[in-house]
Order: sequence, then structure tokens, then C-alpha cells
Amino acid sequence: MTEKHQIIIVGGGAGGLELATKLGHSMGKKGLADIILIDKSRTHIWKPLLHEVAAGTLDSSEDELEYLAQARWHHFRFRLGKMTGLDRDTQEVVVAPTYNADGEMIIPERRFRYDTLVMSVGSLSNDFGIKGVKEHCLFLDSTEQAERFQQKMLDAMIRAHAGHKAIEKGQLDVAIVGAGATGVELAAQLHHVARQLSAYGLDTIDPSEHIKLHIIEAGPRILPALPERISNSALKVLSKLEVTVHVNERVIEITDEGIHTSSGQVIPARFKVWAAGIKAPDFMQELAGLETNHINQLVVHTNLQTTRDERIFAMGDCAACPMGDSGSNVPPRAQAAHQMASLVYKNIKRKLKNRTLVNYHYKDYGSLIAMGRYSTVGNLMGNLTGPFFISGFIARFVYLSLYKMHQAALYGWPRAILIAFLHFLRKGIDPQVKLH
Ligand SMILES: Cc1cc2nc3c(=O)[nH]c(=O)nc-3n(C[C@H](O)[C@H](O)[C@H](O)COP(=O)(O)OP(=O)(O)OC[C@H]3O[C@@H](n4cnc5c(N)ncnc54)[C@H](O)[C@@H]3O)c2cc1C
Repeated sequence: MTEKHQIIIVGGGAGGLELATKLGHSMGKKGLADIILIDKSRTHIWKPLLHEVAAGTLDSSEDELEYLAQARWHHFRFRLGKMTGLDRDTQEVVVAPTYNADGEMIIPERRFRYDTLVMSVGSLSNDFGIKGVKEHCLFLDSTEQAERFQQKMLDAMIRAHAGHKAIEKGQLDVAIVGAGATGVELAAQLHHVARQLSAYGLDTIDPSEHIKLHIIEAGPRILPALPERISNSALKVLSKLEVTVHVNERVIEITDEGIHTSSGQVIPARFKVWAAGIKAPDFMQELAGLETNHINQLVVHTNLQTTRDERIFAMGDCAACPMGDSGSNVPPRAQAAHQMASLVYKNIKRKLKNRTLVNYHYKDYGSLIAMGRYSTVGNLMGNLTGPFFISGFIARFVYLSLYKMHQAALYGWPRAILIAFLHFLRKGIDPQVKLH
């Protein structure tokens, strides 16, 4: 009996989980291939929701998906563990031992053989080696980190409310480094949450007086990757919310006291969040001789095969995929990960039939910035009209539909619509922010 083709996908995020689900449905179900998804977490949450988890407007337990259940329903296997290495000679992925919260080993080191390997391990915040970032900043790279931020902020507010002393200047201030979508969206969410918590009983805290929000950006404007009109609209909303925006300020060091910039400013803040730039995980820096770039991404051809090994594909944030002749790479976005998952799906099937692989062309459908309950601004790409600006209710609707598309890829449309309906019902009975 010939062995089944073994497809290993490492990383079950925005792209990897959609790919495993699709492959499971077509090839796994018919017994045409063995599909294994490896992830270091037991549950999946769509990463663009993490700033809402951090602010406390979303309880991660309501939106997370269990990998083991998804695997059972969609005909693939899930294996828990963190990939740490690769052996291209034996075609094996090396996965480190897994420990529980008490430090006991629950799974020893393992190796998984592949015929086709797909790397979709996403990205992490890039501290660019700046002094003090690791020690003093909070990050939003995982659900655990986002929850940690939410807990720390809530604890600090409870402490300030219950304390006998007057609230000190800066005791609850937050400084966010990086005015990309994550930084801007988080600032707006925090503004709303601070007022909610005060209304829920922490009423000795006056958010306008006691919680100052800062965004620090090295470039000349916020949302540097987006068109200027979106940046201007978002800035107007932030100034109404009294968020202080510092542009042209390059961070040189972070200390307990605050953020130090090259112009000599020190922006004092109790909480510092790092949301400036990304890199692929460090274990990919030197991964069995595969070609990588300065931010550890695996360099791929436009068909998403890595340049030095056609058995290995890479997609999403961890892939450096050229964007036409522009000289730049496909941006690290959820919509790119979603599109790449569809292309890798096609190409794996074509490869197994010895057909020529197709190339990936990034389709930018636009960008939307959700500023909490206050506003959503962005642009959409019209086929004939080119980009056009939208805001308000329509923008909010389109923003939410991006997540619905991800859920539809994982559950199918009927279940995705049912989940949306259940969420709507829960909104009527749950508090607007997480209070524990
Ligand atoms: C707060 C925030 C807000 C964002 N908002 C938006 C937005 O509004 N719109 C947008 O388009 N994009 C947004 N993004 C970017 C978007 O989330 C990413 O581009 C997208 O998730 C990338 O998908 P991916 O599949 O490449 O990786 P991810 O979705 O990050 O998934 C990577 C997976 O790999 C796993 N993994 C990592 N390392 C290992 C390992 N060594 N072994 C095993 N498993 C591993 C992780 O656990 C994770 O499940 C946002 C990102 C953040 C952090």
C-alpha cells in the first residue's frame, strides 16, 4: 500500500487554519492526503481582534475556536507544539516539548515527516533592538499578551479607585508606540473603556483628568501605510478624544519612567504598549538554509513556494512575497493571509496532479480603521472607480464583514450567521466591557 501524501501546516492563524480546513474538506475527507496542523496554542482567535481583547471590549473565550474540534469536524489532525527547527534532508519538522502551567512536560520533543510543508507562523512585534522595550512594554502578539494588558489596566483602575491616596499624575496613563492600525484602534478603544469602567462603579476616576492616552510615531503622520485622507480623518477623531499624538518622534529608549525620543522628549506613562513594526519569529532566521530577509520572513516566489525548496510553501505574515514589479512585498495583513491560503490550496492540488502552479497577485480591497464606538474610517477599492473613502455605519459594516468572511471560511456561512446572531443576543445581557 502506498503511503498517503503528508501535508504539514505550521501555524493555524488567519491563513493556516483556513488552509487546513479547506484541504481537510477536499483531500482529507476523501482520503487523498493526510493533513496535519501544528500550532503552539490550543485555541485560535482572529488576530485583528486582539486590540479589543486588550481593551476589554471582547472576551476572548467567546470568539476562540478549539483546534481539536475544528480538526475533527473538517477531516484534518491537530498537533499541539511549538516548531523550533526543520530537517530538510529527512523532511521533518521539529517540535519542542510542551509543558503545562506547573512546568510538567506533557508532550516530549517530536518530529513530523512531510511531503509538502506550509509555513504560516505569522509575525511578532519587532523591537528593533531598542533598549528597554522588552523589559517595559506590553505587546499584542497573542491572546495571552492581550489578556495580560487588559488585566493590568483593570487592576490599576481598581487599585486607584480603592486607594486612600489621591490618584497620582500619570498613574493610569498609556503610551502606545506605533501609529499603525493597531495603535490607533487601541487608543480609541481604551478611551471608550475608561469611561465605561468609570460608569460601572470606578467613579472616583475621572477619565479625562486621570487617564491620558499618547500615541508616538516616528513618521510624519499617523497610519503611514494608508492614504492621507484616512490618516487625517482618524487624526480628527483622536483629537476629539483628546489622545495626544506625537509624530516625527523616534523612540530611542524605554524606561520605567516613560518613552524617550531622539528629540529629547520623555513621554511619561505607567503603561507602555509596543505596536511598531513586525518580524517573523526568530527561529526562522536560519531555517535549514532557506532564504530569509532582514525580518526573518521566508522569501518565496510568486507561486508561494520558498526560493530554495519547492516542497515548502510560506504564506501570510511570515512570507516575503514580491508584489509585481513594485520592488516591495505583499503587506502583512489578514486579507493577504486569507488570499494566500486560497492560492496555496490551489497550488498544492495542482502540484499533486503535476500541473503548473499559479501565481499570487495581491488584491487590495481597501483598509478600514475601527475607532471603537466613535467612528470607522477607511477606503474601499472599486473596480472602475479606484479607491473611494467611506466612514460611519457602512464602514463599520464592511469592517465587521471581514471577520465574518474568516468565520465563514472556518464554519461555513450558516454557522457564521448563527454565531453573529448569538453575539447580538449576548450584547443585550452582557456588560459592554469585561469587568474581571
Ligand atoms: C492587534 C492587531 C490588529 C490587527 N488588525 C488588522 C486589521 O484590521 N486588518 C488586517 O488586515 N490585518 C490586521 N492585523 C494583521 C493580521 O492580524 C495579520 O496580518 C494576520 O493575522 C496574519 O495571518 P497569518 O496566518 O500569517 O498569521 P497569524 O494569524 O498571526 O497566525 C500565526 C499562527 O502561528 C502560530 N505559531 C507561531 N509560531 C509558531 C511556532 N513556532 N510553532 C507553532 N505555531 C506557531 C500562532 O500561534 C498563530 O496561531 C492586525 C494585527 C494585530 C496584532
